[in-house]
Amino acid sequence: MNLHEYQARSLLKAAGIPVPDGDVAATPDEVEAIARRIGGAVVVKAQVHAGGRGKAGGVKLAADPAEARRHAQAILGMQIKGLIVEKVLVAPAADIASESYVGVIIDRASQRPVIMVSPAGGVDIEEVAAKTPEKIFKVAIDPRFGLLPHQAMGLAFELYRDLGQVRRAATIMQQLYRAFVHAGASLAEINPLITTPGGEVVALDAKLVVDDNELDRRADIAALRDVSSEAPSEVEAREAGLSYIQLDGNVGCCVNGAGLAMATMDLVKHYGGEPANFLDIGGSSSPEKVITALRIITRDPKVKSILFNIFGGITRTDDVANGIVAATRSIAIGCPIVIRLTGTNEAIAVDILRGAGFEALTDMDEAVQQAVKLAREAA
Ligand code: GDP
Ligand code: MN
Repeated sequence: MNLHEYQARSLLKAAGIPVPDGDVAATPDEVEAIARRIGGAVVVKAQVHAGGRGKAGGVKLAADPAEARRHAQAILGMQIKGLIVEKVLVAPAADIASESYVGVIIDRASQRPVIMVSPAGGVDIEEVAAKTPEKIFKVAIDPRFGLLPHQAMGLAFELYRDLGQVRRAATIMQQLYRAFVHAGASLAEINPLITTPGGEVVALDAKLVVDDNELDRRADIAALRDVSSEAPSEVEAREAGLSYIQLDGNVGCCVNGAGLAMATMDLVKHYGGEPANFLDIGGSSSPEKVITALRIITRDPKVKSILFNIFGGITRTDDVANGIVAATRSIAIGCPIVIRLTGTNEAIAVDILRGAGFEALTDMDEAVQQAVKLAREAA
């Protein structure tokens, strides 16, 4: 789950990190009122689940409330990486002397959280990693002990010369790590962490990505979910208990089990196709789940063929067959469906599908090749 910057800021602030005050608004009137209350120059920032807002024109400085209003008119409603801006954050503008990067991620290689810092902040950290990797400094954190003071100090010395700033940055790193753990995050990032001309160290941007599996035991964090800014298909899938991720291809995939779903996507690519999605309908699939799955897949206009790949274990293939038949009666599918199923109640499933005019395959390669071919012919 992604958090908005203003939500991440308040969690960082609660952890003790210096963050400029600010307020969220959805209309130019509100923005002007907040700017007037703050007084002086402000920054107006698009609140969408995307980075690179600055480059996209979604972060603008305003000298006075009238200018803040004009920026709000431009930013509210604009699209950044396909997301429509519905809210902006208005905060006092900071004077920047330097911009650094500080982030905590889960690192699969070391199987630990890793804290990463760079004096080359403000820009995309991926770009720094690609062009000047020597400017990135990392420490793997032992979760039993957390980020230790000497580790944080060592990293902070890579950012600053001034001892006061080094100490402040080290404290912020430890606070950021605690916020990361508290939120059940897979990523916590401050970019930029700035110094002001007066020597303060302040977080000007905040990004938190929360691991969905952590939400059950963190009601306070789960309550921050902003459904309006998530893809409607992903919201519907989550509510129906399906794991769905939209991709760029044209072969819609409907599979039971995450492993089989990934193997299916690999095979689609192997035969020269591109999967339109990852979709795992889960272990025990009721017909209703299949109907929801088909509704979600067909909503994506890029989908030119749909591939079912069902391995019946706990999942009963006749349940899936009934779901397919019911779905095709209640919604207009608009593209060919290729069905491969094998396992529990296979013979019953095949009968159900035949009765409704569908052919059912048992060979996975054959089914995938057919789905890829049909998508190519329709494209
Ligand atoms: P991002 O582009 O989505 O990462 O959004 P950021 O919040 O990081 O803002 C992008 C850039 O805008 C920052 O790197 C700063 O250079 C600049 N910026 C943001 N807030 C302020 C501010 O209060 N004062 C000044 N002078 N620049 C700011
Ligand atoms: Mn940023």
